[in-house]
Amino acid sequence: MIEYENLGKVNKPFVEDYKKSFSETLQRGWFILGQNVENFEKEFAAYTGAKYCIGVASGLDALLLSLKAFDFKTGDEVILPSNTYIATILSVLHAGLIPVLVEPDISTYNIDPSRIEEKITSKTRALMIVHLYGKSCEMDPITDICKKYDLRLIEDCAQSHGAKYKNKITGRFGEFGAFSFYPTKNLGALGDGGAVVTDDPLLAEKIKVFRNYGSKVKYYNEVVGYNSRLDEVQAGFLSVKLKKLDDINRHKNKLAALYHKELKNDFIKPAVHPDFYDVYHIYNIRHPERDKVRNYLLNNNIKTDVHYPVSPNNQAAMKGIISGRYPVSEEIHRTTISLPVSYFHTTEDIKKVISVLNNY
Ligand SMILES: *Cc1c(COP(=O)(O)O)cnc(C)c1O
Repeated sequence: MIEYENLGKVNKPFVEDYKKSFSETLQRGWFILGQNVENFEKEFAAYTGAKYCIGVASGLDALLLSLKAFDFKTGDEVILPSNTYIATILSVLHAGLIPVLVEPDISTYNIDPSRIEEKITSKTRALMIVHLYGKSCEMDPITDICKKYDLRLIEDCAQSHGAKYKNKITGRFGEFGAFSFYPTKNLGALGDGGAVVTDDPLLAEKIKVFRNYGSKVKYYNEVVGYNSRLDEVQAGFLSVKLKKLDDINRHKNKLAALYHKELKNDFIKPAVHPDFYDVYHIYNIRHPERDKVRNYLLNNNIKTDVHYPVSPNNQAAMKGIISGRYPVSEEIHRTTISLPVSYFHTTEDIKKVISVLNNY
């Protein structure tokens, strides 16, 4: 059986270092916002090249607190892609803002820059873009639009740790890069975690205050805050894994290159372009007989996944919240298959998947 994902196997190379980190943390006996969080924040800021990194409890909170830091008014609008994971939309809703969805480009699966301007109104305050599957959005036209209309830019980097556009790392184009360290992500913890990166000292300070009950000085609360701190134990694990993030991304790239080269063209493969360094959080293909292809693979002992089976506009939770039609998004959700592309997969695994698929 070729598994789609196995987090035990992904983390196996790091077990000894995790144990050492955990035992040191236990010894220190300081479990909230301690040395580990501080160290990881410095390391991840350095990795991205940002001045500040603030660890938070999850990717969702990284997005939410970024929005909160701008002090937008209730009812202000935020533009985001219609085919994103639900968390992006939830962050906008929980901030009291209105999500306005823009269709993706069918070849990149990322927000279509040519369709953004038609959705801008007098209430639009920000773009929240998503570098889906580990591919950067097309940043030149997007940053141009932000300048032209004076919009803030938040990047959802939950799937794009280390991905680049024209040699610039994702998370560094906007005011905020928001990251998730959910266990399956390219930089995944052994539980929940997230972080925000920014160059702006005032915005960084706001996130720090929001994540810790709205207080700078213990028991003095300046704003209505949250409990959203990156866990001290997880931060220790993340420091271990961050050292290997480039390795993980290179490995996924090697597997993706095999698919790209050898998989027959009956399957629509992800776009490849020299301006983009993709990190393949997900390697998806598309096929009109999606479910048949998945079953065929499963009968050949190959597990796959679907990211995602239901487009946000068709989710029960979004009834009465999202209106309009999103045919591009729906087409992607109807036809996409995620193939094995994990850190523990070997080139032999991928060759097996390719040979089975090429016989379909
Ligand atoms: C995983 C993910 C999130 C949410 O991250 P959590 O850490 O699970 O809260 C947000 N956006 C995208 C695109 C994601 O893939």
